Amino acid sequence: MNEFHDRGPRRVGQVKEVTSLANPIIKDIKALTNKKSREESGTFIAEGLKLVIDAIELGWTIRTLVYAKAAKGKSLVEQMAAKTVASGGLVLEVNEKVISSITRRDNPQMVVGIFESRWRALKDIRPEEGETWVALDRVRDPGNLGTIIRTADAAGASGIILVGETTDPFSLETVRATMGSIFAVPVSRATAEEFIAWKKQAGVSIVATHLAGSVDYRTIDYRKKPVVLLMGNEQSGLPDQLARQADALARIPQQGRADSLNLAVATAVMLFEARRHLLSLTEGK
Ligand code: SAM
Repeated sequence: MNEFHDRGPRRVGQVKEVTSLANPIIKDIKALTNKKSREESGTFIAEGLKLVIDAIELGWTIRTLVYAKAAKGKSLVEQMAAKTVASGGLVLEVNEKVISSITRRDNPQMVVGIFESRWRALKDIRPEEGETWVALDRVRDPGNLGTIIRTADAAGASGIILVGETTDPFSLETVRATMGSIFAVPVSRATAEEFIAWKKQAGVSIVATHLAGSVDYRTIDYRKKPVVLLMGNEQSGLPDQLARQADALARIPQQGRADSLNLAVATAVMLFEARRHLLSLTEGK
């Protein structure tokens, strides 16, 4: 537990005005830019009114709403403040200097929310017909992870499984890159061994992508079973231990000088192919 939670009962139902960067609540919020503080507190920062509205609408628990004085009185901000108070959260009205320091930006968003993180337990993932999951081996880059979460959302995938040591989906940078999809797409985490054990009883088809894959990704039947697209690490690709789990080792044919596609781009190509039969202009957006 960090200080944020130790400091006695929260002042439920109040709007607190904060102008000092030295305020201990602000210090605790700023600490959430560090992974350790996020893990210890089980919370993370989401920037911007749109994300805060999306998160609250989707039932995520808000602990603290922070808004800049300039946003005071705006109807949607007031509504979010009321919802925060109603659910026992804290509302802080701050100056621009304070909100800039939280998000480390010169032109900060006017609204920031602190939400409780959520992980889907791997054992609770039981993919059904028509579902597509994305498993990412040791993904390192927060921008890639955020882009993949956003793309998975847009393609109608059911969720993401992070395998091994990965970048944190609740970091400021990843959450930014998801553009709000972090609140719509379940994220699970597992060691390689846990993932392999899960795969053996999950009734899924593992389509692993590999630069040495012999199967053209367009020739695979993605309808037979629920599909898990298994993607390799940015630098080293998929290790043999995971590649061996594949029902198909797929490759996206390339031309030109590039050795490989960027991980997020390769995931997007795979997702839209695997779900091609399920996506249509008339039924979707
Ligand atoms: N040097 C790495 C390697 O040898 O695999 C490159 C990894 S690539 C940047 C990251 C991941 O994107 C790969 O592990 C694979 O999952 C996927 N990927 C990229 N280009 C691909 C392609 N043409 N076919 C299949 N998968 C690809």
